[in-house]
Amino acid sequence: MTFQSSSRLYAAVSSLLWPAIFCAGLTGSYFAFHSQMHLLWFNVVYLSVVATIALFERLMPYEETWLDADGETFNNLAHTLLSKGAVQIAAAIGTSFPMAVAIVAQPFLSHKANIWPDQLPMALQVVLGLIIAEFGLYLAHRLAHEHLSLWRFHALHHSVERLWVINTGRFHIIDSLFKIALSQIPLYLLGAPLPVFLWIGAVTAFIGLLTHCNIDVRTGPLDWILSTPRLHRWHHSKLLAEGNTNYGENLVIWDQILGTYYNPPRPSSIDIGITGKVADSFLAQLVQPFSKKGAKQIIGKKPKELRDKEELAAKAAAAREQANEPIRKSS
Ligand SMILES: [Zn+2]
Ligand SMILES: [Zn+2]
Repeated sequence: MTFQSSSRLYAAVSSLLWPAIFCAGLTGSYFAFHSQMHLLWFNVVYLSVVATIALFERLMPYEETWLDADGETFNNLAHTLLSKGAVQIAAAIGTSFPMAVAIVAQPFLSHKANIWPDQLPMALQVVLGLIIAEFGLYLAHRLAHEHLSLWRFHALHHSVERLWVINTGRFHIIDSLFKIALSQIPLYLLGAPLPVFLWIGAVTAFIGLLTHCNIDVRTGPLDWILSTPRLHRWHHSKLLAEGNTNYGENLVIWDQILGTYYNPPRPSSIDIGITGKVADSFLAQLVQPFSKKGAKQIIGKKPKELRDKEELAAKAAAAREQANEPIRKSS
């Protein structure tokens, strides 16, 4: 670390950095969207934010050991590029797949419903769009954790044992498509205009980068509204009780409403990862979930052990209940 974690400067930077980087990203996006080549300029802004976060990860890491290489950097970048779509790969610049989808698909979706409140100021339309899209993101993410048929794809994202900015786009392509479908289709059907998709793409891109960063940021009350690094570290915890929480990608409103919000008053988890085993190479990681053997490796032993444990606990509870039955009847 180059400056003392006990200094006032450190505390100030720690508190201001998350909002500063997020606002800088959105300001850059504003100029990008008002330029002739908005995707190109958006990519420049996106990569500048990646570089800024990478720099601060060195200056003030949340967890020093996460700075060490884990041999997954190439795989992380490859999954990021694939997930972000062929249009972007062709441009050889990585950025938001939803934005590319929106630009390509919008002209074909002219028969949209006219119920979108496009008379509202753009900022309000974007907030509304974020809340609606977030429900799809929440649902897709929660289903991916609760059903082994989907977990086999999502586990790739959780298989790393360090969090840093380059992990952000480490998603299996099937996992990404599922999430995009559930979050974007409702907006198309409601008739949201293109700028709403662009702004949601920008917000998702920057919150995603910040959520995975290994910077010692203090996000305070932001933890109640937005998906922050602190909340997301709990989500990456190896402990199921901690990991199956905080599903929100941008906003945590649905976690708050549906009871999966988790933020106990202690430093968030650094023991992250999965109990199963994900393949080593990029191509093997892509095909692994499609075979029975591969899926078994990904899922690991713990779910079976857990199931057995739960079964035993349920049997014991049933036995206790049976034993108590005559007493309750006679009382
Ligand atoms: Zn997850
Ligand atoms: Zn994550």
